[in-house]
Amino acid sequence: MSQATATQVAAFAAPEPKAPLERTTVPRRAVGPHDVLIDIKYAGICHSDIHQVRDGWREGIYPMVPGHEIAGVVTEVGADVTRFAVGDRVGVGCFVDSCRECEACLQGQEQHCLEATGTYNALDENGDPTYGGYSSHIVVDENYTVRIPDGLSLDVAAPLLCAGITLYSPLKHWQAGPGKKVAIVGLGGLGHMGVKIAAALGAEVTVLSQSLRKKDDGLALGATHYYATSDESTFTELAGRFDLVVSTVSAPLDLGAYLGLLKVGGTLVNVGAPEEPVSLNLFSVIGGNKTLAGSMIGGIAETQEMLDFCAEHGLGSEIELIGADQINEAYARVEASDVRYRFVIDASTI
Ligand code: NAP
Ligand code: ZN
Repeated sequence: MSQATATQVAAFAAPEPKAPLERTTVPRRAVGPHDVLIDIKYAGICHSDIHQVRDGWREGIYPMVPGHEIAGVVTEVGADVTRFAVGDRVGVGCFVDSCRECEACLQGQEQHCLEATGTYNALDENGDPTYGGYSSHIVVDENYTVRIPDGLSLDVAAPLLCAGITLYSPLKHWQAGPGKKVAIVGLGGLGHMGVKIAAALGAEVTVLSQSLRKKDDGLALGATHYYATSDESTFTELAGRFDLVVSTVSAPLDLGAYLGLLKVGGTLVNVGAPEEPVSLNLFSVIGGNKTLAGSMIGGIAETQEMLDFCAEHGLGSEIELIGADQINEAYARVEASDVRYRFVIDASTI
C-alpha cells in the first residue's frame, strides 16, 4: 500500500459498546511529512482493550478499533522523516501524539500530557477518531514510533509496547534491583512481564496469584516465590515482607491487605485499571509510613529504553498467537484469567 491520500484499511472493530468485534475498514490519513506508514504484523490484546470495548471506563467512541501493542514494518516515510527508513521494524504503543511543549512532554512523560492522543478511542487534532492496531496498516508520526531491536521477534515484541513499558517504568522508578524484595500481583499479560523484568533487574520476585495453578510458569519466568491470595494465611505469612508491591489486577482489589505486605516505608504501585472504585482504610498507609502510588505506561524515550533492555536480556512476551477470527474468544478467555500470557493477533489474518 502506498499513500498519497487518505485510504481505507482492513480492521476489526466493535461497532457499539459490548458488541463482538467484526471485520470492517477504517480510514488512515495520508502520509504527512513527519509520518511513517506501518504495515502491521502483530497486535497484542491488552485487558485495557477489553475494558474499553465493553465501555467499562465509560468514555468509549464507536466503532472502536482497539490495539495499542503494535509491531510492524515501515513501508513508506514522509518527506521530512529522519529517524526511520522503509524496512525498519517498529512499534507503536498507547499514544500517537502529544502537545510537545508542556512540562510532561519536555520531561519525556508524554503519556501524561493533557493533550496526548490515544492510539484509539480518542480524537486527533482534526477531531477525527483514532483507530488502533487490530488493523492492516497505521500512519503514525515518527516521534511517537519506536524501534524494535533486531534481537526481538515482532510477535513477542508487540506486547512490550504496553505490558512491557507499564511494568518497566515503575520497576525502574521504585528501584527494583539487587537486595530488593518485589511482589507482582496478578500473573496475566502485565504481570508476567513484571516478573521477567524485575528478575532481570536483579530483584527477588514473588508472584501473588489467585491460585497456585500457574506456579510452575511463575517460577520459570523468574520468580523465587509464589503464593495464592485465595489462601488467607498468605497475608499473615508475608506481612511486612516487601519493598515494592506492583498490582496488575484488572478487578477491584482489597488494597489494604496488600499494603500490609510492605516493609516500613514500602510502596504499593497500582497499575491495574478496574472499572469500579475501591475503598481503603487509610490506617493501611499511616502505619509503616507506606506509599500507595499509581503508574501509567511510560514515555517514548523510556519505551525505547525498555525495548533495548528487553532485547539485551532476551525478554519477549509469552504469547498465544491467534487469527483475527479468534479475537472475541480470546477476550472471553482474558476475562476469565485464562491467558498464558498474552494473546497476539497475526495481522495478516485481518
Ligand atoms: P490480564 O492479562 O487479564 O491480567 C490480569 C490478572 O489479574 C489476571 O491474569 C489475574 O491474575 C488477576 N485477576 C483478574 N481478576 C482478578 C480478581 N477478581 N481478583 C484478583 N486477581 C484478579 O490483564 P492485563 O492486560 O495484564 O491488564 C491488567 C490491568 O492493567 C487491566 O485493568 C488493564 O486495563 C490495566 N492496564 C493498566 C496500564 C497502565 O498504564 N497503568 C497499562 C495496561 C493495562 P491471576 O490469575 O494470576 O490471579
Ligand atoms: Zn494496554
